Amino acid sequence: MDKKKDIRALTKEQLREFFVKNGDKAFRGNQVYEWLWQKSAHSFEVMTNISKETRDMLEANFVINHIKVDQMQRSSDGTIKNAVRLHDDLIVESVLIPTKTRTTACVSSQVGCSLDCKFCATARLKRMRNLNPDEIYDQVVAIDNESRLYFDKPLSNIVFMGMGEPLMNYNNVLKAIQKITSPEGLGMSPKRITVSTSGVPKMIRKMADEEVKFKLAVSLHSAIDKVRTSIMPFNATFTLADLREALQYWYAKTSSRITYEYVVWEGINDTKKDIDALVSFCKFAPSKVNLIEYNPIDDGIFQQAENSAIEMYVSTLEKNGIVVTVRRSRGKDIDAACGQLANKS
Ligand code: SF4
Repeated sequence: MDKKKDIRALTKEQLREFFVKNGDKAFRGNQVYEWLWQKSAHSFEVMTNISKETRDMLEANFVINHIKVDQMQRSSDGTIKNAVRLHDDLIVESVLIPTKTRTTACVSSQVGCSLDCKFCATARLKRMRNLNPDEIYDQVVAIDNESRLYFDKPLSNIVFMGMGEPLMNYNNVLKAIQKITSPEGLGMSPKRITVSTSGVPKMIRKMADEEVKFKLAVSLHSAIDKVRTSIMPFNATFTLADLREALQYWYAKTSSRITYEYVVWEGINDTKKDIDALVSFCKFAPSKVNLIEYNPIDDGIFQQAENSAIEMYVSTLEKNGIVVTVRRSRGKDIDAACGQLANKS
């Protein structure tokens, strides 16, 4: 096993200190940092403004654990799915979703997932480990490159909605976002980044306290505890009342409207009672609802509800002054749609 340290785990300051300790100038640390992050260097060899001797010294002490896109699949609707190999040979998936006006990266935050939502293909994989900040960052860089190559424009948006629960890997997700938004990284606006959580109240409060600038989405799927617990078992611990309080706290601190992601399943949450509960929940803090088309992962109990149920949701929410969008799924033919990421390729 390689005992060398991943150089990208070092902060800029640590890199500067490393060079000073080794009899060089602190400035050398800035140069290497720029290669690692802004230029996404995969080897020390390409760092051409650094002497061969210094590059050899770096090679002897460190590795650069870059991800590798093992397989790229393209959907008939333009969606691209990457199977990403990590340095320890584990695989995660990330997706590029193009529309007329934007290209969005959907990235993973864990290998597998800590939670066990019954409708989700990722939940069937064991949670192996959290992704490091650089592994999250690299997924974004890979998708940005694909966006430029295939759609002639840079990546415009990022959603943390791939494999894993981002708030169960909070520190690394935040470090990755810092890098993505920093001028020394990709320089993207935090307003174009959405962290989508299944709802971990303690961590939502923490984010609010830290006054993060990105957007928050919550996979709600039901505003009735009994129903939500049956499809998202962790709701027994993190109840809707706790979630509601955390979201109110979030809004009070950030003034940032919350998006509720919501799938309507036949026989599960497609009645008037379900809709009324959602309407009440939406009134606790300024919010909007995305009704997402579901992609069955097998022929079990989770099947997309009839159009009439979706229409009833839309009209009731609108009547109550709540903004609602119906999102058609993308990339179904390559298992890249919401809830389908399960390393099948
Ligand atoms: S829906 Fe999200 S939080 Fe739930 S199991 Fe799937 S990846 Fe994890």
